[in-house]
Amino acid sequence: MKDWNEKCAVVGIYNAHNASILSYYALFAMQHRGQEASGISAANGEKIFTHKNNGLVTKVFDEPTLKKLQGIASIGHNRYSTAGEDSIDDCQPIFAKYSLGELAIVHNGNLTNAKKVRKGLIDEGAIFQSHLDTENLIHLIAKSHKSQLVDRITDALGKIEGAYALVFLSRTKMFAVRDRYGLRPLSLGKITNPDGSIGYIVASETCAFDLIGAEYIRDVNPGEMLVFEGAYSKHIPIPKSIKIFEPNPKPCIFEYVYFARPDSKVFGRNVYEIRKQMGIELAKEHNIQADMVIPVPDSGVAAAIGFSKQSGVPFELGIIRNHYVGRTFIEPTQTARELKVKLKLNPIAELIADKEIIVIDDSIVRGTTSKQIIKILKQAGAKKIHLFISSPPTISPCYYGVDTPEKSQLICANHTLEEVREFIGADSLAFLSLEGLKKSIQSSDDEAFCQACFDGNYITIPQE
Ligand code: AMP
Ligand code: SF4
Repeated sequence: MKDWNEKCAVVGIYNAHNASILSYYALFAMQHRGQEASGISAANGEKIFTHKNNGLVTKVFDEPTLKKLQGIASIGHNRYSTAGEDSIDDCQPIFAKYSLGELAIVHNGNLTNAKKVRKGLIDEGAIFQSHLDTENLIHLIAKSHKSQLVDRITDALGKIEGAYALVFLSRTKMFAVRDRYGLRPLSLGKITNPDGSIGYIVASETCAFDLIGAEYIRDVNPGEMLVFEGAYSKHIPIPKSIKIFEPNPKPCIFEYVYFARPDSKVFGRNVYEIRKQMGIELAKEHNIQADMVIPVPDSGVAAAIGFSKQSGVPFELGIIRNHYVGRTFIEPTQTARELKVKLKLNPIAELIADKEIIVIDDSIVRGTTSKQIIKILKQAGAKKIHLFISSPPTISPCYYGVDTPEKSQLICANHTLEEVREFIGADSLAFLSLEGLKKSIQSSDDEAFCQACFDGNYITIPQE
């Protein structure tokens, strides 16, 4: 099944001058979480304005467009998706007029009972405009008989299951909420406006705060809703916290492995420090010497630094990444896969020729990228290649908003370590253990994470 809300970025800005411009910068900082489409809604107290389209943030928005998105509150979204028809209807924010006024929603995550809820709504006469599971929320809110939006949202949340970091925008208020497990990240920050007044930001990653000069306050808690109101009075109150669900925290451990930017704080911890520690733990678990350790850029850099520090093997940048690849035309032939990797990564032959090297990457999913990387390193003359991965084998798909292929395509789910090594073409292959990964995060014994893609233990599974 195609998921429509994969690994996205969300942002909400409340009581800030040029709120839509701040959302734009925040989305720019979080471009790594989604490059397919981008959108912003802004509210000026009387009306909600929305602009969204396919493409990168800088392509979707220009100055005149942003100027039209007036108001001191705004929400924004970057969409990640690897396939499917790119219809604007499937871009976020999704917007609707309903009996209480106007509403826009952005969502990062994946609702596991979306099909069932959607079918029920359609049976009752609802007409859907998109493939988005988030659209269920619009219908559930519109159908609720409560007189206050906050109660309607609470009603609707009681009917959905799965992973969500959601931001709702009405004409005057904003609401930010995380599911009871806190699967997807959402942090709260403070904005100091040029006139000294205070505003707020919520965003998937704190790298968005840094770009706009916002100060990290804390994470939105699992099961918590923050209500932002009063933007049109002089003193806006600190956001009101409502406990919607009993929290049962199980944040996504894969955020630390791959998705988040290393300069972000995710679930309260800096990502770079954790990735470096993952490299240290990897070196502790697998004692090996070689001429150099090189990262697959950018995903393996921090772990390779940690590995080098622990093992004493010199760190080198043996592979250079072209950051300007974007959507390059690739002829659909046999060599397409190889070309795809080559467009992005090029080894420094003079450095690695005749050397025994340890290559560090963050994860193996299908195994095809690693295979091509080993191939280009061998072509560049590497004598021996040890591929070390700073996370455990990925053996199960994600149902909570991360784009992993189905189990049949996960190489480590279907093959032994030796078979994977042979397919990839490395001289040796090693993974960090789940214990090593947890150690890197320095999690306490009573702290739980979702790690289903590594151990197959799901919190909840999709319902048909
Ligand atoms: P492959 O094994 O060829 O499927 O590619 C694995 C590489 O893709 C890893 O080195 C990661 O850097 C990256 N990766 C891991 N998970 C994801 C994901 N969900 N979406 C996109 N890239 C990913
Ligand atoms: Fe994250 Fe993996 Fe859990 Fe998905 S299954 S939420 S990627 S830890």
